[in-house]
Amino acid sequence: MIEGGLQRLAVSGVQALQPYQPGKPVSELERELGIQDIVKLASNENPLGPSPKVLTALQNALVDIARYPDGNGYQLKKMLSERYGVGIDQITLGNGSNDVLELVARTFLSPGACAIYSQYAFAVYPIVVQAVGAKGIAVPACNGLGEQGYGHDLEKMVREAPRECRVVFVANPNNPTGNYCCSDSLMGFLETLSRQVIVVVDEAYFEYVEQEDYPDTLALLDQYPNLVVTRTFSKAYGLAGLRVGYAISSPEVANLMNRVRQPFNVNSLALVGAEAALLDQDYLKYSREVNNQGLNQLMQGLEKLGIDYLASVGNFLSFDCKRTALPIYKDLLRQGVIVRPLDNYEMPQHLRVTVGTVKENAAFLKALAIVTAND
Ligand code: PMP
Repeated sequence: MIEGGLQRLAVSGVQALQPYQPGKPVSELERELGIQDIVKLASNENPLGPSPKVLTALQNALVDIARYPDGNGYQLKKMLSERYGVGIDQITLGNGSNDVLELVARTFLSPGACAIYSQYAFAVYPIVVQAVGAKGIAVPACNGLGEQGYGHDLEKMVREAPRECRVVFVANPNNPTGNYCCSDSLMGFLETLSRQVIVVVDEAYFEYVEQEDYPDTLALLDQYPNLVVTRTFSKAYGLAGLRVGYAISSPEVANLMNRVRQPFNVNSLALVGAEAALLDQDYLKYSREVNNQGLNQLMQGLEKLGIDYLASVGNFLSFDCKRTALPIYKDLLRQGVIVRPLDNYEMPQHLRVTVGTVKENAAFLKALAIVTAND
């Protein structure tokens, strides 16, 4: 027996970690409550599912699964490079963009180094940082008011970056707050921050953003070789279950990350699915339209109920329950609607809802009206 248990064998960063809390799966709620027709709006997935063309491509690719995938993901990288006007040598593929975030941490962080991110930023950043023994620092966010409510305070992040800071994570737009950093503020940030710090701009939701002042980060890569842009096929492309994401960076950074990447980190179906998804831009456009309509439906519905929300440019909305939100979350579960509690983001009065189909949004709003009727 080890005194104090096996816990003490883990590196100290891991000992201090809490696992990532994903949205509750539909099958789990079905098991727990024995109910059907559950509406899951908890993980920012595309409610339309994948493009039918992706499904056909996947079916055709099934016969090849006895073979290892192309470890370099050449075809997908080539398609991304043509679509975005970057070199193949600037692309790093990942098992979801989560994998790429981890690659950044494993490549650039070690004990003694630190990484910064904003308070209320995506919950995976502290996990990947602490897992490699580095220190994660959450910089206080903007206050809860206005368009930038709870969002990144980039100027403060530059001011508070300690000397040991090697990596900064900027979620743009941010999950769960939904707001974004505009081009001017991101450029000011990149300009004032030391070029010895890797800046990860996490653009998991970028396909949804239509604002004109949203930064064109790829155009900044030549000027800022310390910039790493991460994106995913999990959201607007509807492939969350396949797990495929990517980073675009300078060739130098891509080369370094490639050294720690698992040889076959993106499986063959994920590669084929992502390629087919990229070819179906009409489907992406349709997904974006459905999202815009759904976002309006949710905003109007919440306004009718007198519930405040944070303005969002993504496929989700966080709303303020003005009291501890967990009981409302649980009551919604009993109504068959899964949303996301935000207490692990230190936003215990907020819940986050993903934009669903018109029917799913209506079911959520109806359930919310019932469970908040006496508020
Ligand atoms: N970044 C942000 C901001 C996210 O919200 C998510 C998913 N919730 C991810 C990255 C990771 O997504 P994936 O690993 O599915 O690409």
